[in-house]
Amino acid sequence: MTDPSKTELPRIPLAGVIGHPIAHSRSPALHGHWLKRYGIKGHYVPMDIAPQDLKEALHMLPRLGFVGINVTIPHKETILQLADVVTDRAALIGAANTLIFRKDGKIHADNTDGAGFMANLRQHAPQWVPQAGPVALFGAGGAARAVAAALIEVGVPEIRIANRTRLRAETLRHDLGAKLTVYDWVHAGDMLQGASLVINSTSLGMTGKPDLRLPLDQLERGTVATDLVYTPLMTSFLIEAEERGAQVVDGLGMLLHQAAPGFERWFGKRPEVDAALREAVLRA
Ligand code: NAP
Repeated sequence: MTDPSKTELPRIPLAGVIGHPIAHSRSPALHGHWLKRYGIKGHYVPMDIAPQDLKEALHMLPRLGFVGINVTIPHKETILQLADVVTDRAALIGAANTLIFRKDGKIHADNTDGAGFMANLRQHAPQWVPQAGPVALFGAGGAARAVAAALIEVGVPEIRIANRTRLRAETLRHDLGAKLTVYDWVHAGDMLQGASLVINSTSLGMTGKPDLRLPLDQLERGTVATDLVYTPLMTSFLIEAEERGAQVVDGLGMLLHQAAPGFERWFGKRPEVDAALREAVLRA
């Protein structure tokens, strides 16, 4: 007969998101929806971890049963120094948002923002193809780096980029190569001529921030316009772009899609990004 004290029950997998602060994160609602939908015994928890506690937390989390975590502000860049294996794209972007705690004890760091951006575009603007023409990108922050790297990977011919702080755009050009053309922030409207895709990757337009105020008169009908900001869903940039005949794609889909690879690695199921998930996250 088996000794019940020696029968090991499988551990319930834990995952979560670390940031500082973290209360605003929609990731628990997102992963919680998938866990429930697929009947997976697991939990996803938000954890407020201050920078000085990051190293210790990373040491402890796998021992507590965590199989991986998402990483958000302010840890996305510093986490690279603490990971054992960093994917090429996370290294190129200079930030990670998804960690896997491997069975061999190593911490694997990846960045899924670019893949999330592309998947959102494929879902909501399936007619857009990378070869369709130049891309105009407003902003050169962390998210812009991920988006630009993903666009180059899928083969866009040119990325025109403008950032308030020009040096940041120049640095991106230096890191990602000659497909990037840097424009002055005051001439950002000129990037729109002949563009097949226009992206706002600045934080302008977010609730509580000023709107993105750039002249959109050179935007051509049928161009795809997308915003990384998703609160509100329809930013003033998207509203004006739509009025000018662009096809608009909001930023919520990027958030949903960037979460899928992590969920699959941690819980063993490739989750679906659909209307029910969108609703659940919007309600949260
Ligand atoms: P970040 O690294 O802090 O970069 C912020 C960007 O906004 C920079 O280009 C910055 O320009 C620009 N900016 C801020 N205030 C400005 C102003 N007053 N005038 C002109 N430009 C201004 O942030 P991030 O991580 O790239 O995130 C950017 C936005 O994308 C945020 O709203 C974030 O929530 C959103 N995001 C969404 C997703 C998603 O899944 N949908 C994923 C990642 C990020 P300077 O360089 O001149 O400061």
